[in-house]
Amino acid sequence: MSVFSAIVLAGGSGKRMGGAVKKQYMELLGKPLIFYALDAFEKSSVDEIVLVTTPTDVEYCKKEIVERFGFQKVKAVVPGGAQRYDSVYEGLKAAAGDYVLIHDGARAFVTPEIIRRSMEAVVRYDACVVGMPSKDTVKIASAEGFVASTPSRESVWVIQTPQSFEMQLVRSSYEKVLGEHTPGITDDAMVVELASDQKVKLIEGSYENIKVTTPEDVAIGEEILKNRHMQTF
Ligand code: C5P
Repeated sequence: MSVFSAIVLAGGSGKRMGGAVKKQYMELLGKPLIFYALDAFEKSSVDEIVLVTTPTDVEYCKKEIVERFGFQKVKAVVPGGAQRYDSVYEGLKAAAGDYVLIHDGARAFVTPEIIRRSMEAVVRYDACVVGMPSKDTVKIASAEGFVASTPSRESVWVIQTPQSFEMQLVRSSYEKVLGEHTPGITDDAMVVELASDQKVKLIEGSYENIKVTTPEDVAIGEEILKNRHMQTF
């Protein structure tokens, strides 16, 4: 039986949210934002969770998040790095699975069903990312701010997390690419794309699997949670 690790990232500064409380710990319907993604992974069939936080928040997260909410699968809380990819690399060092699902903690509305689909696809394809077909037409811009080209909408997907990989593939890709100091890495699939010939499978996420980034997203997020709550009655 394969072992599945999840890395949940909460090591960002959350600056775009403004406000006194860091985004990760801001409350949505009475629970801190980071609770929701951890809860989805706890309820999924992954075997272990590595939570990555800013170095100053490790102890706080152990006590006020992991202990307080009784997350049994969180086996380590580790300090992250300056960039998202540095944080992922720290998470990878602490993860012991044959496969790993890398998830932005700010995507609070991920579901156990999306996690299940990711686990199934990563075993089959070795690399997969969740996303959704773009509802909007996308333009590629020139440096001068003019339209350079228009990709056909059927071929444009907006990418979310989890992004899931066979462990050795993602570890060796990170080692190679971080060593080369490649700037502009915004997701994990990009690291694997740059470092190997591995094909990355696109699988369906959900239009609700949004990243909570700015204050508008908090109101949308609370609506998503309220709707889910009503559906359980
Ligand atoms: O900044 P961005 O929205 O792309 O961050 C995506 C996720 O990566 C967030 O969950 C954030 O907490 C995490 N992150 C991190 N370490 C960093 C930067 C971002 O864990 N240095």
